[in-house]
Amino acid sequence: MNAATHETPPLVDRFGRRVDYVRLSVTDRCDFRCVYCMAEDMEFLPRNQILSLEEILAAAEAFVSLGVRKIRLTGGEPLVRQNILWLVERIARLPGLQELTLTTNGSQLAKMAAPLRDAGLGRINVSLDSLRPLRFRELTRTGKLEDVLSGIAAARRAGFARLKLNAVILRGRNDDEVLDLVDYARSNELDISFIEEMPLGKIEEHDRAGTFLSSEELREIIATRHTLTPTEESTGGPSRYWRIAGSDTRVGFISPHSHNFCHLCNRVRLTVEGRLLLCLGNEHSADLRALMREYPGDAVRLREAIRAAMDLKPERHWFDLANEPQIVRFMNMTGG
Ligand code: SAM
Ligand code: SF4
Repeated sequence: MNAATHETPPLVDRFGRRVDYVRLSVTDRCDFRCVYCMAEDMEFLPRNQILSLEEILAAAEAFVSLGVRKIRLTGGEPLVRQNILWLVERIARLPGLQELTLTTNGSQLAKMAAPLRDAGLGRINVSLDSLRPLRFRELTRTGKLEDVLSGIAAARRAGFARLKLNAVILRGRNDDEVLDLVDYARSNELDISFIEEMPLGKIEEHDRAGTFLSSEELREIIATRHTLTPTEESTGGPSRYWRIAGSDTRVGFISPHSHNFCHLCNRVRLTVEGRLLLCLGNEHSADLRALMREYPGDAVRLREAIRAAMDLKPERHWFDLANEPQIVRFMNMTGG
């Protein structure tokens, strides 16, 4: 019933964009409370509202049978979801899937890296915004830098190739660490992407417009020490990459504000509530949980609902840092 057929046409939206990349949020929970991602006091979803691992797997199967080639597991913190290895093992084996990746804060990686590799995970992105223990604690509110650095070392030992760091740089908070983060990536043979802060969810801790730093400014900072050469390389996501002369490290920039990438968008997100979000910066969505619970095991209906949802994908996002966020959900709910 679930088998992909060769005749299955790809998922294409109204603007002719082919969707072959899905980000699956496996939990809204997290052991960190990063200042740009969450409010300090967060309420998480009750258990009956989140998809079971079996439901997430059924959704992954449906997407892959519709031509999706890349799946990223995210959250919240995906490695705090119980039995996550069960899911990784099964998604990794889906015929037709070319790449299974994961974005993590790294707190659990020291113990999880090798089992994740054994379960078939292909690549890992680790978020890291500071190399100073006290500042790291301030930015994550609860995190321990040492755990994350041990996690990165464990992932390297486990044999993950092209490990990538993700950093969000906030003016006045960690903009003096841009060069240190690039040097850390270089000396540990990692790639690094800088993400512009997005107005997802209302936060009181800082004024997002005031801390905003564009990718252009970041490149100027990096160019004071390194020669950056633009490349056409892509990992299928929104990062645009530069190479550092004399090293293998790629420096990526995800610039939803300063360089809109919507026309190239190839991805959709499934929240842990089973809401298929067609765009990071809009609320257009389809409720796959309701469908899976009304018709358990009905892969045909699930595929039809996913295909129909492609018509809801909006042309682009309109982020505006100066006014109240239009998007009230936080990044941990969105599946970053
Ligand atoms: N917990 C995991 C982690 O931190 O890597 C995965 C989920 S997290 C939501 C995914 C990515 O989103 C992280 O790299 C984080 O820095 C980024 N992020 C969170 N909130 C953001 C925001 N408001 N703007 C830009 N990036 C954000
Ligand atoms: Fe957790 Fe990741 Fe959000 Fe930080 S960015 S609070 S680690 S989900």
